[in-house]
Amino acid sequence: HATKKTMVDHLRKYESLFTLTPQRMRIIVDSFVEVLEIGLKEFGQTVPMIPTYVFGWPTRMENGDFLALDLGGTNLRVCLVHLQGDGRFEITQTKYRLTEEQKQEDGMKLFDFCAECVANFVELHTGEGRGKIKEDEELALGFTFSYPVNQARIDHGELIRWTKGFGAPNTEGKDVAAMFRASMEKYPVLKNVKLTALINDTTGTLIASHYVNPRTKIAVILGTGCNAAYMETVENITKIAPLGIPGEQQMAINCEWGAFDSFQHYHLPRTPYDILVDEQSNKPGEQAFEKLISGRYLGEIFRLVLCELIDAGDLFLGQNTYKLEIPYSFDTAFLSLMESDPTDELLTVIGIFTHFHQIETTLAERQFFRALARLIGRRAARLSACGIAAIVSKCGYLEEGCSVGADGSLYNKYPGFADRIHEGLVDVFGDKGKRIVTHHAEDGSGVGSAIIAAMTKKRK
Ligand code: ADP
Repeated sequence: HATKKTMVDHLRKYESLFTLTPQRMRIIVDSFVEVLEIGLKEFGQTVPMIPTYVFGWPTRMENGDFLALDLGGTNLRVCLVHLQGDGRFEITQTKYRLTEEQKQEDGMKLFDFCAECVANFVELHTGEGRGKIKEDEELALGFTFSYPVNQARIDHGELIRWTKGFGAPNTEGKDVAAMFRASMEKYPVLKNVKLTALINDTTGTLIASHYVNPRTKIAVILGTGCNAAYMETVENITKIAPLGIPGEQQMAINCEWGAFDSFQHYHLPRTPYDILVDEQSNKPGEQAFEKLISGRYLGEIFRLVLCELIDAGDLFLGQNTYKLEIPYSFDTAFLSLMESDPTDELLTVIGIFTHFHQIETTLAERQFFRALARLIGRRAARLSACGIAAIVSKCGYLEEGCSVGADGSLYNKYPGFADRIHEGLVDVFGDKGKRIVTHHAEDGSGVGSAIIAAMTKKRK
């Protein structure tokens, strides 16, 4: 009979499945550039290249107090941002946890809950000795709503489709700004709060990063989902030519690039595990790029590889693996932890498997798990680099170089993620790739929202 495969044998197979060569990356970048350009020409494209009605860069002199509400994916956050001008700000915030049920219940209930959180926050910070919100002054609120919306103005937006595991009925196709305003009206304490800007976290990050670091030209989010924004010249956004906006103006574009390669799957090499993740997701076919990259999915890809080995009888024979067989039971944060385990025995990996899954592991298995995490994490970073490279190529930023503001737990917490993006950029562009540098963007969805609310006020 055939000799049993070792973990090293298995690893070899996964290495070839998950590795992206520089040549493959360049092919992906070329097709990505084309897709970005098509999205600017025609509505209804897979990568929709959404005009945001955020015009140009901030002057960095914006100032005043603004509220920001951030509906991001995992948490709900309310912030009071005090802009001091000159790239400086202060921020006070409270986070509220969203349950999986809340993401699936009726849209109106979801927005009522958002309004309730804002109302709590405003109450907490209004009144004598409590803080900064003045009772009778109008307070502008920027709503950071990080799902694809169609906008015709900055304070309005129809949800195109939910992403990142949300599914609240009666919301797709509706104006979420109007829905949220209706919810706010249910709370008398919010009578002076006015929703003035509906923005995407990516756009917020772009603006906030530039406020702090004017070399910033691109923003990327690598968290529950993945997305990017950059500043485009209006005359290149030919699909909005009928609006007659002066062509030389600049407007931020929310790429919604998580949708790259959706439905057709021409460009991205997908493994059988990626295909399973997609098929078992609540939106099969959609967000194809995001499903290979973002925090919501990386742990699940890892788990599915393990399940395959369990089913083949090559892993955890004789142990009860039911916990590991629960979908999404392996958080992406575990991959981070495994990759940063400093011990020879891989004690952190032991901890994860015994504590969370009641499974005993051998050293060879643990080494395999860590190597597998590295393959999945590295591929995610290199694909992110492909997206960044596409915007850089499209806009001609390579010669001068630029800064890329990046945010999200994957970027901020996954060990070596930024370095792997930078390596990927060098693989695509050669040495010139070193001119493109990512940096951690300070709180785009709070501060960015506030700056945009301030920019909007000035424009009126
Ligand atoms: P959001 O994108 O929802 O605003 P985050 O940027 O915090 O929020 O991203 C949350 C995602 O990041 C989750 O999918 C989670 O699994 C993942 N995540 C959380 N902690 C880590 C970590 N230490 N390393 C890698 N991924 C993480």
